[in-house]
Amino acid sequence: MARITIAYGDGIGPEIMKSTLEILDAAGADLQYDEIKIGEQVYKAGNSSGINKEDWETIRNNKVFLKAPITTPQGGGYKSLNVSTRKFLGLFANVRPCQSLAPFIKTKHPSMDVVIVRENEEDLYAGIEHQQTDEVVQCLKLISRPGCEKIVRYAFEYAIQAGRKKVTCFTKDNIMKQTDGLFHDVFKQIGEEYPTIEKEHWIIDIGAAKLADTPEHFDVIVTPNLYGDVISDIAAQITGSVGLAGSSNIGLECSMFEAIHGSAPDIAGQDLANPSGLIQGAILMLRHLGQSEVASRIQNAWLTTMEEGVHTADVYDADISSLRVGTRAFTEAVIANLGKKPTVLTPVSFVDESPIVLPTYQRQPNARKDLLGVDVFVQSELLDPQAVGKMLQTLDVPELRLSMITNRGIMVWPKGFEETFCTDHWRCRFEATGEAVLTKKHLIDLLSRADAYGIDTIKTENLYSFNGKSAFSLAQGH
Ligand code: NAD
Repeated sequence: MARITIAYGDGIGPEIMKSTLEILDAAGADLQYDEIKIGEQVYKAGNSSGINKEDWETIRNNKVFLKAPITTPQGGGYKSLNVSTRKFLGLFANVRPCQSLAPFIKTKHPSMDVVIVRENEEDLYAGIEHQQTDEVVQCLKLISRPGCEKIVRYAFEYAIQAGRKKVTCFTKDNIMKQTDGLFHDVFKQIGEEYPTIEKEHWIIDIGAAKLADTPEHFDVIVTPNLYGDVISDIAAQITGSVGLAGSSNIGLECSMFEAIHGSAPDIAGQDLANPSGLIQGAILMLRHLGQSEVASRIQNAWLTTMEEGVHTADVYDADISSLRVGTRAFTEAVIANLGKKPTVLTPVSFVDESPIVLPTYQRQPNARKDLLGVDVFVQSELLDPQAVGKMLQTLDVPELRLSMITNRGIMVWPKGFEETFCTDHWRCRFEATGEAVLTKKHLIDLLSRADAYGIDTIKTENLYSFNGKSAFSLAQGH
């Protein structure tokens, strides 16, 4: 018997969790549950993380967590528990299968069958945000080599295990050459180790458009966290409803299973919610636990229910469906169909699969790292870039000179366009002159001079080269 942690969540969470547990029990899943309380009620009791300390222990001990969606209150410093659970537990891979159920669920994409493998621990979801000036706020986008290697390799291994043919990478590396560029580079490198799998890369914007228009072009998609979040809602929605898809969050030790959608407060408590997403999450969990037979029973009963046209409001269509039902009646229909197999949709017969094991990350020897300069970010209400340049040039010393100023990434000094709108946030690049060998001391002296001249420095970023290759972006227009 597997002992797992469950949480009923918020909004429609309690309704769809109750439905899912009833189906699991009726199908004979060999499970024992430890329930924890998370989400809104914990946030509102003054715990900004949305979970009590002792409940982390339950999750860590049981290792497998079935979670209904929760509401993250807006503002007020509340941290998203979904994001922190994924990161604290090292759940690096978020796998989201999205498959059409045509002709039984109305969709423009009857042959769609896409799996989105979303990076789950980094990117803008690091949640490192600061207000830097009166006018400008910032969110740090962190992408790491180990993070990229883990998720990309997982996507290829998943493709092999699932008998899939192609892995597509989505990034925006035409703009973000360092961060998304690293993700794409790792995809190219690791992809070479999988010669039997077709590989391709799309820029995320046109890739998302292609996915929404021609999803049958795609098979497995691997992508950084934010893009994965957005495109998996799109993918699920175009199969018929965001309420249809489940997901697994896989780590080396622990795993979490859930619906991809949120807590849908607009329909909570009205017996309207489609429990299918969480049911699909539970099926992925059973397969992970080696209970493939029960997983198959539930999936076949669920497919049969879909085929019978017993549909919740989100997928109900008068021309296709036979019965519009609420959460309760849908659950009863699935339970009544346990033991049956669909006749038009393909019945499943899952087999136990060994978990995907990734090689331990091998840290490379450190590269030679040379300090080439520093970007000093300054708050100034001066509106004229030339005036800002003149002010910053007072900081020049023989080893370190102001080479350019940008405003929101656009070069405005020494040359720029008069039309460019400038905020109070200036990135001032100081670069080593000639053969000067820079040290941190030069940077500290630069900041001390700025302080002495009353220049409001708000942060710095060091400019490095790694093994002789400069490793920072140029300005637009530089
Ligand atoms: P949502 O996914 O909750 O709802 C979007 C729309 O889809 C709503 O109209 C909703 O009624 C509908 N919908 C969602 N699930 C459905 C289902 N099972 N059956 C029928 N209709 C369904 O997204 P949102 O409104 O942006 O977010 C609501 C809350 O959920 C927010 O607090 C957000 O932070 C949270 N959220 C939680 C998770 C999670 O716990 N994993 C994920 C996403 C959002």
